Amino acid sequence: TTPAPATGGVTPMMEQFIEIKAANPDSLLFYRMGDFYELFFEDAEKASQALGIVLTKRGKHQGHDIPMCGVPVHAADDYLQKLIAQGFRVAVCEQIEDPAEAKKRGSKSVVRRDVVRLVTPGTITEDKLLAPSESSFLMALGRVKGGGAATSQAGFALAWIDISTGAFRVAETSAERLLADIFRVDPRELIVAEPVFHDPELRPIFDVLGRVANPQPPSLFDSASATGRIARFFEVATPDSFGTFSRAELSAISGTIAYVEKTQKAERPPLSRPEREEQGSTLFIDPATRANLELLRTLSGSRDGSLFKAIDRTVTGGGARLLADRLMAPLTDSAAIAARLDSVSFFRSETRLCQGLRASLKSVADMPRALSRLALNRGGPRDLGALRAGFEAAGAIAELFAAAALPAELAAALAAIRALPEALARHLSEALDDELPLIRRDGGFVRGGYHAELDEMRALRDESRKVIAGLERSLIEETGIRSLKIRHNNVLGYYIEVTANHHSIMTGSDAAKARFIHRQTMANAMRFTTTELAELESKIANAADKALGIELATFDRLTAEVVGEADGIRAGAEALAVLDVSSALALLSESEGWCRPLVDSSLAFEIAGGRHPVVEQALRRSGEGPFVANDCDLSPEGSGKAGAIWLLTGPNMGGKSTFLRQNALIAILAQTGSYVPAQSAHIGVVDRLFSRVGASDDLARGRSTFMVEMVETAAILNQAGERALVILDEIGRGTATFDGLSIAWAAVEYLHEKNRCRAIFATHFHEMTALAGKLPRLSNVTMRVKEWEGDVVFLHEVGKGAADRSYGVQVARLAGLPEAVVARARQVLHQLEEGEVSGKTNRLVDDLPLFSVAVKREAAKPAKGDAVGDALGAINPDEMTPREALEALYRLKGLA
Ligand code: ADP
Repeated sequence: TTPAPATGGVTPMMEQFIEIKAANPDSLLFYRMGDFYELFFEDAEKASQALGIVLTKRGKHQGHDIPMCGVPVHAADDYLQKLIAQGFRVAVCEQIEDPAEAKKRGSKSVVRRDVVRLVTPGTITEDKLLAPSESSFLMALGRVKGGGAATSQAGFALAWIDISTGAFRVAETSAERLLADIFRVDPRELIVAEPVFHDPELRPIFDVLGRVANPQPPSLFDSASATGRIARFFEVATPDSFGTFSRAELSAISGTIAYVEKTQKAERPPLSRPEREEQGSTLFIDPATRANLELLRTLSGSRDGSLFKAIDRTVTGGGARLLADRLMAPLTDSAAIAARLDSVSFFRSETRLCQGLRASLKSVADMPRALSRLALNRGGPRDLGALRAGFEAAGAIAELFAAAALPAELAAALAAIRALPEALARHLSEALDDELPLIRRDGGFVRGGYHAELDEMRALRDESRKVIAGLERSLIEETGIRSLKIRHNNVLGYYIEVTANHHSIMTGSDAAKARFIHRQTMANAMRFTTTELAELESKIANAADKALGIELATFDRLTAEVVGEADGIRAGAEALAVLDVSSALALLSESEGWCRPLVDSSLAFEIAGGRHPVVEQALRRSGEGPFVANDCDLSPEGSGKAGAIWLLTGPNMGGKSTFLRQNALIAILAQTGSYVPAQSAHIGVVDRLFSRVGASDDLARGRSTFMVEMVETAAILNQAGERALVILDEIGRGTATFDGLSIAWAAVEYLHEKNRCRAIFATHFHEMTALAGKLPRLSNVTMRVKEWEGDVVFLHEVGKGAADRSYGVQVARLAGLPEAVVARARQVLHQLEEGEVSGKTNRLVDDLPLFSVAVKREAAKPAKGDAVGDALGAINPDEMTPREALEALYRLKGLA
């Protein structure tokens, strides 16, 4: 199959390759050649580098060597995984006819090939390429201009599917919410019509998404032809039966389906019907907040250290995915939240049932993913096995719950589990063997006793040795040749072999001898066959073929039955996931000592004894002592309609960020329908959660830290309404002191007067505590510390009042600053504070009425000698590396 080296010409194979490649320019082309997928030209160069495999040459194209590399078909999944992880898309091109067919057309004809599938990050189904506990969403963005009456505004919608499980959802959105909604779902791949992708106004969004965003021809998104496309895909007369969708939604749904058709070619994944998510039914969390709160991943991208990792006690892949989905989209309807909480409470009180359930759940395999692979014709016997295991576990679970009085959510789940197709379950357990091969062509997965003819064929095949051995014995007896053997090779098949000196016994014309048909004469042996042996042989070969044929037919029949029951299987699997999540949350809340939150339509935010779930567990693991629980109360006072603001001061390392985040996390957990790490919690539904915490590193995008901070702060002040919860950490740190203080000051005033939302504002500007005198709903709280022999001890306790000082010098000392620098810093600090109190230095503060409230600070004892001078004297710039110099500068600057 090597292309003949053409002198300046193009071989027919290359012609075919080039044509197929041209149709798939943005994918690496895996071109099937025998047992390999081969890549050519640029694809070969890219892939060899990405995969670390050898780049070689194969033939010539227009006089030049063709770069080539290849991967074996049986190991293709591993290579695919690496390529997908590195952001490549792969077009898998197979032979689509028998090579014999090609030969018939002429000796020069190449075997017909075509792309049977595009492997893209959002369309993966292979177990190896998927993390069991992570959803893998493909998302499409629909945009329609001027959605009807007099509006020139564009309407946006997002549709997303998990092709590996069949989930399909759609929601309207807007330009402002777009990025937040995308991050909420966190798709692997977002497809966008080319004109939308290139719209300068939306450009920043796609920049943030990087290679997740994938521009596609606008025809995929055409809202006019969408209804037809959707109806065809779901084989219904009109998609109206799924609900009414806006034009933008139709466009997004159509984009999703068109892309699935484009990538999966002939195969159809069993997608469920698109389900509409109402805007506002989930807690809006802006992208920065989502990232900073480390819900599913930490800022560095790892799962360890995330909230999800800390709370996940699920035992099934489906359960883990459901928990992650819920965590990413907490609810805003207090009744729906209470319904989920009822499920958790149920399992807390029904301990035995809970344990029994968990034991059964452990044997539930990933049913939706197995189902999808089967439907896409990529399944194997183990996928059928996964469904069998799921059905069996479901049966046991249904029995377990038979007598229980269940809360609504669990009752619905149980109903779906009971509705799992019983006949199919029975067929699977009857038909499938205990141990199953990975690949169906290997055969051996249909249980003995299931199919009479199969049993017979297998007996024939498996007992071939015995039958042949019997024949051998009888032939020895008959001929008296003790060395007679029946052997097998690939050329002759089965044959009788005798040594040359014995051949006269078998050659001759009498009837007894005539049954031996001569096949081959060797140097010192002769080979024969008999009609009996030939018959036996063809029977054995046929038996093996037939056995496999019966198995494959059984596989196809069961697969068709499975696909026919797709909706019921998916619903049952989802119900099992619900049981897993609720019981896992019950166990979590018990082992961690969490409480059931009261979530209602008030504006309360009253947490007693709240903790940070991730930090608490980390402290426990490292043995660094217990986590100190803290209260938080941002509820409106009396019948007031506006939430309170806490202004939190305290030294660095005192626990400010931990406190801020823990309250945000408690709100998220509560609205997810989980118990929360607190003694008690009363939360009026939060509709939007905003935060400005930590310095998210946006420098790569060329914005300064301060710019990022301001952009995020602006978003909060522009959007937060009375139901919002706002968590702000150290606004204004990224700029000069007075700028920063002024901005922080104004921001708090704005939050108090305009946004009127519940908020916690942490700051190191002690001057701001004066605001409490002016803003009635603002309270000062501080992280308590104790001073002990000149050192500072963090108590991690939030108390009323303001920090009396920042303890920066003490913290610096803990960090190991040279004693001389610490001593000198104390001295400088003392002088500065004297100046501040007497009004000599901070004149700007005096200019602003509220700033003029002098903050009394306890003076540090002046240290002896001019330590900074000494430290400076000890510095020899000529001997320092630029880095050391910079570090020295930072140290000195830190004292100012
Ligand atoms: P800050 O934001 O004030 O600089 P952090 O919130 O980063 O402080 O907390 C610093 C460290 O103190 C944390 O890493 C944690 O180990 C510890 N810590 C914070 N809060 C508590 C608490 N409530 N109980 C025990 N340790 C805490």
